[in-house]
Amino acid sequence: MKLTDMTAVELAAAIREKKTTAVAAAQAVLDVMEEKEKRLNCYVTLDREGTLERAQEIQKKIDSGKIDSPLAGVPVALKDNLCTRGMRTTCASRILGNFVPPYSAEAVVRLETAGAVIVGKTNMDEFAMGSTTETSAYGPTKNPWNEAHVPGGSSGGSAAAVAAGECFLALGSDTGGSIRQPASFCGVVGMKPTYGTVSRYGLIAYGSSLDQIGPLCRDVTDCAAALEIIASYDDKDSTSAERKDIRFREALADDVKGMRIGIPRDYFREGLSPDVKKRVLEAAQLLAQKGAVVEEFDLRLVEYAIPAYYTIAAAEASSNLERFDGIKYGYQAQDAQGLHDMYRKTRSQGFGPEVKRRIMLGSFVLSSGYYDAYYLKALRVKALIKKAFDDAFAKYDVILAPVAPTTAPELGKSLQEPIKMYLGDIYTISVNLAGLPAISVPCGFDSLGLPVGLQLIGDGFAEKKLLRAAFSYEQARGPFKKCGEAQ
Ligand code: GLN
Repeated sequence: MKLTDMTAVELAAAIREKKTTAVAAAQAVLDVMEEKEKRLNCYVTLDREGTLERAQEIQKKIDSGKIDSPLAGVPVALKDNLCTRGMRTTCASRILGNFVPPYSAEAVVRLETAGAVIVGKTNMDEFAMGSTTETSAYGPTKNPWNEAHVPGGSSGGSAAAVAAGECFLALGSDTGGSIRQPASFCGVVGMKPTYGTVSRYGLIAYGSSLDQIGPLCRDVTDCAAALEIIASYDDKDSTSAERKDIRFREALADDVKGMRIGIPRDYFREGLSPDVKKRVLEAAQLLAQKGAVVEEFDLRLVEYAIPAYYTIAAAEASSNLERFDGIKYGYQAQDAQGLHDMYRKTRSQGFGPEVKRRIMLGSFVLSSGYYDAYYLKALRVKALIKKAFDDAFAKYDVILAPVAPTTAPELGKSLQEPIKMYLGDIYTISVNLAGLPAISVPCGFDSLGLPVGLQLIGDGFAEKKLLRAAFSYEQARGPFKKCGEAQ
């Protein structure tokens, strides 16, 4: 087997058993980058020499028995909104083009401590606002399955890098679907944990009440192993949850007998592509054949999720992005006359159009006179959506749904119609509004040969059940075709 065809857990085991080394794995990934990165543009920042040095250091620690983790020696990529000490962190924005953080995000520190070899920072939609990775100030990423298509977003660089073999595993962030949707478009596994499970310390904030960091990986086993490492209680994040049940690998059992799985009818109505619908329902059937009790139900309120999400996310973004003023961080306009002119020019030149649109929308819904009509109403809708999920989880262990209404759109087609692009988030955003965990697992291809993702949604803090369902499905499905492999 080619080294880069292994999963992260398989690779770490091979390193442990001295069948290969962390340096050989890093070199294998660098070779793939040499071949593909110019075309795909998965990364904003790569550190080739540093990668080999880090791999050597980790190998020494593995040899001397100082590290023993399921991911020791594995080359890992990080979405470029995760702060990395000494390594440029841009959020794919011009405004942070020269920002080198003095500290690393907690999730990054935990991965490094576990012996992961950080290879670079992946491309994304600017400040994680978008669904295609086309709002990046550093050019779009291309979908490795078909380079005329987007990889999804906003964690598109992370998903494409895992699919293309430019890393074994990556971290992303999910505010409204940004891990699950690119995972689905690129044929990899992506998981958004329950809100509060992974510390947000060092994650550059978009919508703080919705943001969660999570893994993008080759399979569900890698996902459980990565989540186990990055999940932690952290007093540097005031929304961090104290959990005792974070040994997620224990949940990897091939057993869904008697598991109650609900399919929300409202997710299968107009707007859903027939190919996606077919693949997702086939996946449901496989789980039923394994003994799960699968039935349809009405989730309710689905049509309110998009307006509520875009109101809340934009409101929080407008407040979070106030700090980028040309003084504290990054880019500063040089041709300004006085302080206010400098703020105006810095932000006008530093932010792209999608970010400006969200800042304006967010400032509007928070302004006096409109706060009650829009922002407060959106918060009420959010509470009702949470209640609808609570009712569903009184009856079901897991909810089964599509990740997105379509497979990956063609490059250049989405940004002209932002509202249409926002509608593509319909099946993912409610999960963030309700703070729930959800996972995207590849479940087949459309007629163009582009991957389709199956979404499984769990109740709050019920990751183990979710991982068991995802793992069992993966076993029933069998190995998923690798990107670049003949049909
Ligand atoms: N597409 C959604 C948005 O643009 C979700 C993005 C995300 O999860 N970061 O807001």
